Amino acid sequence: MYGALEAGGTKMVCAIGDEKGHITERKVIPTLTPAETIPPMIDFFRSYDIEALGIACFGPIDLIPGSPTYGHITSTPKLEWRDTDIVGSFAEALGIPIGFDTDVNGSLLGEVTWGSARGLDDVVYITIGTGVGGGVMSGGRLVHGMLHPELGHMIIPRRDGDIYPGVCPYHGDCLEGLVSGPSIERRYGVKAAELADRPEVWELEAYYIAEALVNIILTLSPQRIILGGGVMHQEQLYALIRSHVSDMLAGYIQAAPLSDMDRYIVPPSLNDDQGIMGAVRLAMEALGQ
Ligand code: ADP
Ligand code: ZN
Repeated sequence: MYGALEAGGTKMVCAIGDEKGHITERKVIPTLTPAETIPPMIDFFRSYDIEALGIACFGPIDLIPGSPTYGHITSTPKLEWRDTDIVGSFAEALGIPIGFDTDVNGSLLGEVTWGSARGLDDVVYITIGTGVGGGVMSGGRLVHGMLHPELGHMIIPRRDGDIYPGVCPYHGDCLEGLVSGPSIERRYGVKAAELADRPEVWELEAYYIAEALVNIILTLSPQRIILGGGVMHQEQLYALIRSHVSDMLAGYIQAAPLSDMDRYIVPPSLNDDQGIMGAVRLAMEALGQ
């Protein structure tokens, strides 16, 4: 048995899973302060005979092996969690190997291990929700680089006439600043879910997301792109995004996956369990499996 933790800014999903990614137990704990939230998670994992724990965590986080702050949550806007040694807390309490990666890399790992992207080596996973995050697998390996990719903050050209300033506290109108759920809410004055019947909202949203995907396709050459997160519950977005991506690429890239856009830009396939299943996989990898 493996422990799995999907650590999010609003909730912590704690689970027990097996080597096939089956989740057998699950407990959801609201994300309050570390002092309030970590002890009940430790109690949960202590009550099972787990060999390792995988943590897919909101960030930014320190993933650099050997760094003095490896396993810490670093410059998060959630101030109570800033500089929290999340890996160390569980390692000390449980005494088992801990696998650790970003939340989006967790979802990506779930999809390539047990989901529709199984067997693919070059996949990008983007989540569009309260924030925008992206995980990258290239040549079968998760990309970390100097930290981890932050695709959500890429700078994209503005559509003609759009002067909305965006909501990113760092960049204003970066991708996250323009397409996150809070950005939609600020622009239109109502929650994104309440704008379902306003086609112009989703047309603009899809345009900006497509710009980002085109940049990703041109730089990383992924075999598939998975788009998840709360905003993508607006399912009409997928067709709009595919169409804009095709238009923007303008036939320049001749590659078989691009000829079947419905299979190239896809929703997650694991019923919102991709993150927690990916955390199971992180636990297995911590044991060298
Ligand atoms: P988080 O990013 O916090 O992990 P989600 O991925 O669920 O959580 O994203 C939450 C965001 O998604 C909110 O800003 C919310 O407005 C937006 N959202 C949730 N459901 C919908 C929906 N059906 N249509 C459009 N936006 C939605
Ligand atoms: Zn930004």
